[in-house]
Amino acid sequence: MALTSAATCGNFLPAFFVKLFTSFLIRLIRLLSTPYPSTYPMAHSLAQLWQSIRRRWLYALLAIAVTFGLVVTQPQPSHAQPRWFDLLLRGVQIFQLSNLSDNQEVALGRQINQQLTARQFRLYREPTITDYVNRIGQRLVPHSERPQIPYTFQVVDSTQVNAFATMGGFVYVTTGLMRTAENEAELASVISHEIGHIAERHAVKQMRERAIQGGIATAAGLDRNAAVAIGVELALNRPNSRQDELEADQDGLQTLVGAGYAPQAMVTFMQKLLNRRGGSPPTFLSTHPATGDRITRLESSLRQLNISQGDGLDPAAYRDRIRPLLRQG
Ligand SMILES: [Zn+2]
Repeated sequence: MALTSAATCGNFLPAFFVKLFTSFLIRLIRLLSTPYPSTYPMAHSLAQLWQSIRRRWLYALLAIAVTFGLVVTQPQPSHAQPRWFDLLLRGVQIFQLSNLSDNQEVALGRQINQQLTARQFRLYREPTITDYVNRIGQRLVPHSERPQIPYTFQVVDSTQVNAFATMGGFVYVTTGLMRTAENEAELASVISHEIGHIAERHAVKQMRERAIQGGIATAAGLDRNAAVAIGVELALNRPNSRQDELEADQDGLQTLVGAGYAPQAMVTFMQKLLNRRGGSPPTFLSTHPATGDRITRLESSLRQLNISQGDGLDPAAYRDRIRPLLRQG
Protein backbone atom coordinates (compact mmCIF):
# COMPACT_ATOMS: atom_id res chain seq x y z
CA MET A 1 0.00 0.00 0.00
CA ALA A 2 1.17 3.49 -0.76
CA LEU A 3 1.31 4.62 2.84
CA THR A 4 3.11 1.47 3.92
CA SER A 5 5.77 1.92 1.29
CA ALA A 6 6.09 5.59 2.22
CA ALA A 7 6.50 4.62 5.86
CA THR A 8 9.10 2.00 5.00
CA CYS A 9 10.87 4.52 2.83
CA GLY A 10 10.85 7.07 5.61
CA ASN A 11 12.59 4.71 8.01
CA PHE A 12 14.83 3.22 5.40
CA LEU A 13 16.13 6.34 3.70
CA PRO A 14 18.12 7.89 6.57
CA ALA A 15 19.85 4.56 7.25
CA PHE A 16 20.58 4.24 3.55
CA PHE A 17 22.11 7.72 3.36
CA VAL A 18 24.12 7.14 6.53
CA LYS A 19 25.60 4.00 4.88
CA LEU A 20 26.17 5.76 1.58
CA PHE A 21 27.84 8.75 3.23
CA THR A 22 30.02 6.55 5.46
CA SER A 23 31.14 4.46 2.50
CA PHE A 24 31.90 7.64 0.51
CA LEU A 25 33.99 8.99 3.39
CA ILE A 26 35.94 5.74 3.70
CA ARG A 27 36.68 5.66 -0.04
CA LEU A 28 37.79 9.27 -0.04
CA ILE A 29 40.04 8.76 2.98
CA ARG A 30 41.56 5.67 1.29
CA LEU A 31 42.17 7.60 -1.91
CA LEU A 32 43.78 10.48 -0.08
CA SER A 33 45.89 8.10 2.02
CA THR A 34 47.39 6.70 -1.16
CA PRO A 35 50.75 8.31 -2.03
CA TYR A 36 51.09 9.76 -5.48
CA PRO A 37 52.13 6.90 -7.80
CA SER A 38 55.86 7.30 -8.28
CA THR A 39 55.81 5.53 -11.64
CA TYR A 40 53.80 8.33 -13.20
CA PRO A 41 55.95 10.61 -15.29
CA MET A 42 54.81 13.62 -13.29
CA ALA A 43 56.77 16.70 -12.37
CA HIS A 44 58.19 16.88 -8.86
CA SER A 45 56.21 20.03 -7.94
CA LEU A 46 52.91 18.38 -8.89
CA ALA A 47 53.68 15.47 -6.58
CA GLN A 48 54.36 17.93 -3.78
CA LEU A 49 51.08 19.72 -4.44
CA TRP A 50 49.23 16.40 -4.29
CA GLN A 51 50.84 15.61 -0.95
CA SER A 52 49.77 18.95 0.45
CA ILE A 53 46.15 18.65 -0.73
CA ARG A 54 46.05 15.05 0.46
CA ARG A 55 47.19 15.93 4.00
CA ARG A 56 44.85 18.89 4.39
CA TRP A 57 41.73 17.00 3.17
CA LEU A 58 42.60 13.85 4.98
CA TYR A 59 42.59 15.66 8.33
CA ALA A 60 39.35 17.48 7.51
CA LEU A 61 37.65 14.27 6.43
CA LEU A 62 38.85 12.38 9.47
CA ALA A 63 37.37 15.12 11.67
CA ILE A 64 34.03 14.91 9.83
CA ALA A 65 34.01 11.10 10.01
CA VAL A 66 34.71 11.09 13.75
CA THR A 67 32.05 13.73 14.49
CA PHE A 68 29.54 11.97 12.27
CA GLY A 69 30.25 8.61 13.90
CA LEU A 70 29.83 10.09 17.37
CA VAL A 71 26.50 11.71 16.54
CA VAL A 72 25.09 8.59 14.90
CA THR A 73 26.30 6.07 17.43
CA GLN A 74 25.94 8.09 20.62
CA PRO A 75 23.23 6.45 22.75
CA GLN A 76 20.51 8.92 23.74
CA PRO A 77 17.27 8.43 25.63
CA SER A 78 14.62 8.39 22.90
CA HIS A 79 12.05 10.47 24.76
CA ALA A 80 14.26 12.99 26.50
CA GLN A 81 16.19 14.27 23.53
CA PRO A 82 15.27 13.30 19.97
CA ARG A 83 18.22 12.43 17.78
CA TRP A 84 19.00 14.77 14.94
CA PHE A 85 17.62 12.50 12.23
CA ASP A 86 14.40 12.10 14.24
CA LEU A 87 14.00 15.84 13.90
CA LEU A 88 14.54 15.52 10.17
CA LEU A 89 11.99 12.71 10.02
CA ARG A 90 9.44 14.74 11.92
CA GLY A 91 9.54 17.34 9.18
CA VAL A 92 9.05 14.63 6.56
CA GLN A 93 6.15 12.99 8.39
CA ILE A 94 4.19 16.22 8.87
CA PHE A 95 4.76 17.08 5.26
CA GLN A 96 3.35 13.70 4.26
CA LEU A 97 0.24 13.96 6.43
CA SER A 98 -0.38 17.39 4.96
CA ASN A 99 -0.23 15.90 1.51
CA LEU A 100 -1.94 12.57 2.06
CA SER A 101 -3.26 11.39 -1.31
CA ASP A 102 -6.78 10.00 -1.63
CA ASN A 103 -5.35 6.50 -2.11
CA GLN A 104 -3.19 6.79 0.99
CA GLU A 105 -6.11 8.10 3.04
CA VAL A 106 -8.37 5.25 1.88
CA ALA A 107 -5.64 2.72 2.70
CA LEU A 108 -5.19 4.23 6.16
CA GLY A 109 -8.98 4.27 6.71
CA ARG A 110 -9.08 0.59 5.78
CA GLN A 111 -6.38 -0.27 8.33
CA ILE A 112 -8.14 1.75 11.04
CA ASN A 113 -11.36 -0.06 10.13
CA GLN A 114 -9.62 -3.43 10.54
CA GLN A 115 -8.47 -2.46 14.03
CA LEU A 116 -11.84 -1.05 15.03
CA THR A 117 -13.82 -4.05 13.82
CA ALA A 118 -11.33 -6.62 15.13
CA ARG A 119 -10.86 -5.19 18.62
CA GLN A 120 -13.12 -2.29 19.49
CA PHE A 121 -16.65 -3.13 18.45
CA ARG A 122 -18.82 -5.69 16.74
CA LEU A 123 -20.38 -5.03 13.37
CA TYR A 124 -24.05 -5.77 12.89
CA ARG A 125 -24.15 -8.06 9.87
CA GLU A 126 -27.82 -8.61 9.09
CA PRO A 127 -27.76 -8.13 5.27
CA THR A 128 -31.14 -6.39 4.95
CA ILE A 129 -29.99 -3.76 7.44
CA THR A 130 -26.43 -3.32 6.15
CA ASP A 131 -27.66 -3.15 2.53
CA TYR A 132 -30.23 -0.57 3.54
CA VAL A 133 -27.67 1.67 5.25
CA ASN A 134 -25.25 1.26 2.37
CA ARG A 135 -27.95 2.20 -0.17
CA ILE A 136 -28.74 5.39 1.77
CA GLY A 137 -25.02 6.21 1.95
CA GLN A 138 -24.39 5.57 -1.74
CA ARG A 139 -27.41 7.71 -2.64
CA LEU A 140 -25.86 10.59 -0.69
CA VAL A 141 -22.23 10.30 -1.88
CA PRO A 142 -22.65 11.71 -5.44
CA HIS A 143 -24.11 14.88 -3.89
CA SER A 144 -21.26 15.32 -1.41
CA GLU A 145 -18.22 17.56 -1.68
CA ARG A 146 -15.99 14.53 -2.18
CA PRO A 147 -17.68 11.92 -4.36
CA GLN A 148 -14.47 10.64 -5.99
CA ILE A 149 -13.35 8.25 -3.21
CA PRO A 150 -14.99 4.92 -2.33
CA TYR A 151 -17.25 4.99 0.74
CA THR A 152 -17.92 2.14 3.16
CA PHE A 153 -21.02 2.37 5.35
CA GLN A 154 -21.23 -0.03 8.26
CA VAL A 155 -23.55 -0.70 11.18
CA VAL A 156 -22.10 -1.13 14.67
CA ASP A 157 -23.99 -3.42 17.02
CA SER A 158 -24.40 -1.10 20.01
CA THR A 159 -27.21 0.33 22.10
CA GLN A 160 -25.34 3.65 22.22
CA VAL A 161 -26.85 6.31 19.99
CA ASN A 162 -23.85 7.22 17.89
CA ALA A 163 -22.37 7.70 14.46
CA PHE A 164 -18.85 8.54 13.42
CA ALA A 165 -16.43 8.62 10.52
CA THR A 166 -12.72 7.94 10.37
CA MET A 167 -11.01 8.75 7.10
CA GLY A 168 -10.94 7.58 3.53
CA GLY A 169 -14.72 7.05 3.30
CA PHE A 170 -15.37 4.87 6.36
CA VAL A 171 -18.69 5.75 8.06
CA TYR A 172 -20.34 3.97 11.00
CA VAL A 173 -23.81 4.18 12.54
CA THR A 174 -24.95 2.21 15.57
CA THR A 175 -28.04 0.04 15.78
CA GLY A 176 -29.00 2.25 18.75
CA LEU A 177 -29.04 5.30 16.51
CA MET A 178 -31.03 3.49 13.83
CA ARG A 179 -33.68 2.54 16.40
CA THR A 180 -33.84 6.12 17.69
CA ALA A 181 -34.34 7.69 14.26
CA GLU A 182 -37.97 8.08 13.34
CA ASN A 183 -37.62 7.95 9.59
CA GLU A 184 -35.13 7.37 6.78
CA ALA A 185 -34.47 11.09 6.33
CA GLU A 186 -33.28 11.39 9.95
CA LEU A 187 -30.91 8.45 9.49
CA ALA A 188 -29.76 9.91 6.16
CA SER A 189 -29.12 13.27 7.86
CA VAL A 190 -26.66 11.66 10.27
CA ILE A 191 -24.93 9.73 7.50
CA SER A 192 -24.64 12.86 5.34
CA HIS A 193 -23.16 14.74 8.31
CA GLU A 194 -20.51 11.99 8.67
CA ILE A 195 -19.79 12.15 4.93
CA GLY A 196 -19.24 15.88 5.56
CA HIS A 197 -16.50 15.06 8.09
CA ILE A 198 -14.77 12.89 5.49
CA ALA A 199 -15.21 15.45 2.73
CA GLU A 200 -13.54 18.07 4.94
CA ARG A 201 -10.78 15.61 5.95
CA HIS A 202 -11.35 16.34 9.64
CA ALA A 203 -9.81 13.05 10.84
CA VAL A 204 -6.65 13.66 8.79
CA LYS A 205 -6.39 17.14 10.27
CA GLN A 206 -6.81 15.78 13.80
CA MET A 207 -4.22 13.08 13.14
CA ARG A 208 -1.76 15.71 11.95
CA GLU A 209 -2.38 17.83 15.05
CA ARG A 210 -1.87 14.80 17.25
CA ALA A 211 1.40 13.89 15.47
CA ILE A 212 2.70 17.44 15.88
CA GLN A 213 1.96 17.42 19.61
CA GLY A 214 5.03 16.76 21.73
CA GLY A 215 4.17 13.19 22.72
CA ILE A 216 4.65 11.84 19.21
CA ALA A 217 8.23 12.94 18.88
CA THR A 218 9.66 10.29 16.62
CA ALA A 219 8.55 8.90 13.29
CA ALA A 220 4.92 8.38 14.35
CA GLY A 221 3.40 10.10 11.37
CA LEU A 222 5.32 7.86 9.08
CA ASP A 223 4.96 4.71 11.08
CA ARG A 224 1.87 2.91 9.89
CA ASN A 225 1.05 1.30 13.23
CA ALA A 226 1.31 4.58 15.12
CA ALA A 227 -0.85 6.35 12.54
CA VAL A 228 -3.48 3.62 12.77
CA ALA A 229 -3.39 3.75 16.58
CA ILE A 230 -4.01 7.51 16.50
CA GLY A 231 -6.84 6.97 14.00
CA VAL A 232 -8.50 4.35 16.24
CA GLU A 233 -8.17 6.57 19.30
CA LEU A 234 -9.62 9.54 17.47
CA ALA A 235 -12.55 7.46 16.25
CA LEU A 236 -13.37 6.22 19.74
CA ASN A 237 -12.53 9.06 22.08
CA ARG A 238 -11.94 12.34 20.42
CA PRO A 239 -14.86 14.72 20.11
CA ASN A 240 -14.89 16.87 17.01
CA SER A 241 -14.33 20.57 17.42
CA ARG A 242 -17.25 22.98 17.24
CA GLN A 243 -15.88 24.34 13.96
CA ASP A 244 -15.65 20.84 12.45
CA GLU A 245 -19.23 20.08 13.52
CA LEU A 246 -20.59 23.24 11.94
CA GLU A 247 -18.67 22.49 8.74
CA ALA A 248 -19.93 18.89 8.59
CA ASP A 249 -23.48 20.12 9.22
CA GLN A 250 -23.37 22.55 6.32
CA ASP A 251 -21.80 19.99 3.97
CA GLY A 252 -24.26 17.37 5.20
CA LEU A 253 -27.27 19.60 4.67
CA GLN A 254 -26.26 20.30 1.07
CA THR A 255 -25.70 16.59 0.47
CA LEU A 256 -29.07 15.71 1.99
CA VAL A 257 -30.88 18.23 -0.19
CA GLY A 258 -28.95 17.14 -3.28
CA ALA A 259 -30.02 13.53 -2.73
CA GLY A 260 -33.66 14.58 -2.44
CA TYR A 261 -34.18 13.92 1.28
CA ALA A 262 -36.25 16.23 3.45
CA PRO A 263 -33.61 18.56 4.95
CA GLN A 264 -35.62 19.44 8.07
CA ALA A 265 -34.94 15.88 9.28
CA MET A 266 -31.44 16.98 10.25
CA VAL A 267 -32.86 19.46 12.74
CA THR A 268 -35.69 17.28 14.03
CA PHE A 269 -33.31 14.42 14.81
CA MET A 270 -30.85 16.65 16.62
CA GLN A 271 -33.64 18.23 18.65
CA LYS A 272 -34.97 14.78 19.49
CA LEU A 273 -31.57 13.73 20.84
CA LEU A 274 -31.24 16.93 22.83
CA ASN A 275 -34.68 16.62 24.41
CA ARG A 276 -34.57 12.92 25.19
CA ARG A 277 -35.66 12.29 28.75
CA GLY A 278 -34.20 9.76 31.12
CA GLY A 279 -30.83 8.06 31.07
CA SER A 280 -27.58 9.67 30.03
CA PRO A 281 -27.42 11.91 26.98
CA PRO A 282 -26.67 10.02 23.77
CA THR A 283 -23.02 9.50 22.87
CA PHE A 284 -23.66 11.36 19.65
CA LEU A 285 -24.00 14.62 21.58
CA SER A 286 -20.66 14.21 23.35
CA THR A 287 -18.77 13.16 20.22
CA HIS A 288 -20.60 15.82 18.20
CA PRO A 289 -20.68 18.76 20.61
CA ALA A 290 -22.22 22.25 20.40
CA THR A 291 -25.66 20.85 19.62
CA GLY A 292 -27.67 23.98 20.54
CA ASP A 293 -25.47 26.16 18.35
CA ARG A 294 -25.69 23.66 15.52
CA ILE A 295 -29.49 23.57 15.64
CA THR A 296 -29.70 27.37 15.51
CA ARG A 297 -27.43 27.53 12.49
CA LEU A 298 -29.16 24.67 10.71
CA GLU A 299 -32.55 26.32 11.23
CA SER A 300 -31.17 29.49 9.70
CA SER A 301 -29.82 27.54 6.70
CA LEU A 302 -33.17 25.77 6.29
CA ARG A 303 -35.01 29.09 6.18
CA GLN A 304 -32.70 30.21 3.39
CA LEU A 305 -33.17 26.95 1.49
CA ASN A 306 -36.95 27.22 1.91
CA ILE A 307 -37.50 23.55 1.10
CA SER A 308 -40.40 21.93 2.91
CA GLN A 309 -40.59 18.74 0.89
CA GLY A 310 -38.33 15.76 0.45
CA ASP A 311 -38.04 12.00 0.68
CA GLY A 312 -37.78 9.79 3.71
CA LEU A 313 -40.36 11.19 6.10
CA ASP A 314 -42.62 8.13 6.32
CA PRO A 315 -42.13 6.56 9.78
CA ALA A 316 -44.09 3.39 8.92
CA ALA A 317 -41.96 2.72 5.82
CA TYR A 318 -38.82 3.20 7.90
CA ARG A 319 -39.95 0.86 10.68
CA ASP A 320 -40.66 -1.70 8.00
CA ARG A 321 -37.13 -1.39 6.61
CA ILE A 322 -35.45 -1.81 9.97
CA ARG A 323 -37.79 -4.55 11.20
CA PRO A 324 -34.98 -7.03 12.09
CA LEU A 325 -33.55 -4.39 14.44
CA LEU A 326 -36.88 -3.72 16.11
CA ARG A 327 -37.47 -7.42 16.70
CA GLN A 328 -34.20 -7.55 18.60
CA GLY A 329 -34.57 -4.21 20.32
ZN1 LIG B 1 -19.89 15.30 13.65
